[in-house]
Amino acid sequence: MDRKLVGIPASPGIVVGPVHLLRWEIPEVRHRIIPDEAIPDELRRFRSVLERAKERLHQVRERVEKSAGAEEAAIFDVQSSILEDEEMLTSVDRLIHQNLAAEKAFEIVMLEWAQRFSRASHPMIREKVGDLKDVEIRVLTLLMDLPDHDPVDLPKGSSAILVTHDLTPSLTVQLDRGAIAAIATDAGTRTSHVAILARSLGLPAIVGLRVATQQLSGRETAILDGSTGLLAINPSHQDIDAYKERARQEKLLEADLRHLSTLESVTMDGARITLRANVDLPEEAELAAKSGAEGVGLMRTEFLVVGRATMPDEDEQYRAYTRVVRAFDGQPVVIRTFDVGGDKLPVGGFPTEPNPFLGWRAIRMCLDQPELFRTQLRALLRAAVHGDVRIMLPLVVTVQEVRAARALLDQAAKELEERGVEFRRDVPLGVMIETPAAAIACDTFANEVAFFSIGTNDLVQYTLAVDRGNANLASRFTPLHPAVLKLIRRAVFTARQYKLEIAVCGEMASQPLMAFALIGLGVRQLSVAPRSVPLVKRIVRSISVEVAEEASKAAAAADTAAEAELELERRLTGALGDSALLGGGLPA
Ligand code: PEP
Ligand code: MG
Repeated sequence: MDRKLVGIPASPGIVVGPVHLLRWEIPEVRHRIIPDEAIPDELRRFRSVLERAKERLHQVRERVEKSAGAEEAAIFDVQSSILEDEEMLTSVDRLIHQNLAAEKAFEIVMLEWAQRFSRASHPMIREKVGDLKDVEIRVLTLLMDLPDHDPVDLPKGSSAILVTHDLTPSLTVQLDRGAIAAIATDAGTRTSHVAILARSLGLPAIVGLRVATQQLSGRETAILDGSTGLLAINPSHQDIDAYKERARQEKLLEADLRHLSTLESVTMDGARITLRANVDLPEEAELAAKSGAEGVGLMRTEFLVVGRATMPDEDEQYRAYTRVVRAFDGQPVVIRTFDVGGDKLPVGGFPTEPNPFLGWRAIRMCLDQPELFRTQLRALLRAAVHGDVRIMLPLVVTVQEVRAARALLDQAAKELEERGVEFRRDVPLGVMIETPAAAIACDTFANEVAFFSIGTNDLVQYTLAVDRGNANLASRFTPLHPAVLKLIRRAVFTARQYKLEIAVCGEMASQPLMAFALIGLGVRQLSVAPRSVPLVKRIVRSISVEVAEEASKAAAAADTAAEAELELERRLTGALGDSALLGGGLPA
């Protein structure tokens, strides 16, 4: 092989395929002056490129409509309307008449528009800056005859490894899943949403490669190993054979774990550990139900809205939630209200912010937009007729937020009653513990909610002040930091005092060593990626609570995350007598 690039393993699986480099960036445009006699041809060239760009957009729109639905495809209507805008055409023509080459003229007009849009007071208009960027890339690529990196236009079945700087959720929903077999990004960490979404989609992925897009030309073949984070460039036949063998071993191991789906999740000393699944997309529900999960511990509803031009209406949401509820056939399904914001922007019409993780996100955004929130709550109350739905609020920091949400829930119920629509009134309402404020002061919520669920991805991020999506900080994102362990212990203690259920639904629960630590800290409910259900169950069935408690006590007393990890590892390997279970190529 030519080279090895090493990143952060984000979603397991091995893929061998051509590299598809996606550089979705505005190209640099040279200042080019054309002579007077070339002006008519330049005007014609510009018009013909616009026609080709429209044609491309049309193809892309059709493909997205087929694969992702009409709502997602509507994004492209805004872009088409920019290409047809009379004011844009007149402005570009005027600059070409002043002897500027078409690409420079177009770039200048787009720059003017972007400045005008970003100063607009209405967030809907500010948000269109993203559409302008897409249009500009498409048109300049054609005008300058550059390689076409369109993210959504790959031949079907090409098993490509998509390599890109960062994959926003909106770009992800546009991807043709029939053509992309794996994802590799410069940015991101295990807990960034591209990694979470890749796991949901079952796409092998590596994130945090930092400079892969600079080092590759897009003509390479590569092996992507999502379990170890290795991207091997231009592998030899022997390399490929060796990886195919590894892929076969992984499949065998998975098959081996599959038989666990019917076995009970109980420790050697008889403690029941409830294992539920995290579901990000309604389409995953049926597969997740087969993993042996006892319900859904977290459904991330925001993936219904990211990357769309408009919000899903009540009926569409009702159908999505009902699908998940039915797949789990009476088992509990915890559905979290929209956690839009953070790295899950942009969605149709919402502004991007300078500091989105500390910004207008999750429950804050929902409470400020009661119409939008009540629509979701009505859909949830209706879906609850079909099973054991529980509603969970994200990023709560004060009890007032819980009270305000409950008032809206009551109002939503009243609206359904007035409409004469069937719904369930007594749906339990719980909160996520994912900020230090919520963890330290969870007693202030305890009398007002039915359950807690600890979101360790955000809890770690906010406690350690480490951006969960920043690849440069990945080694500093340490869930076993003493502060995090102490916060978890505190929340578990409070939940017990108030006789409330408490679960962990962050990624920490999906990793065997951390799951061991959580059980030791007193957690009896874990919600994990569907693929991790058997893996975590195997750990549960191999340990005793006594050993886990002792290990967690030692981990919490350690001064650093590294020491805590050693304490846990030593005891878990002792209990299992099989260190292979701790990682190294296993589905994480
Ligand atoms: C978390 O923060 O741990 C969590 C489960 O929510 P999300 O990853 O969607 O922010
Ligand atoms: Mg969170």
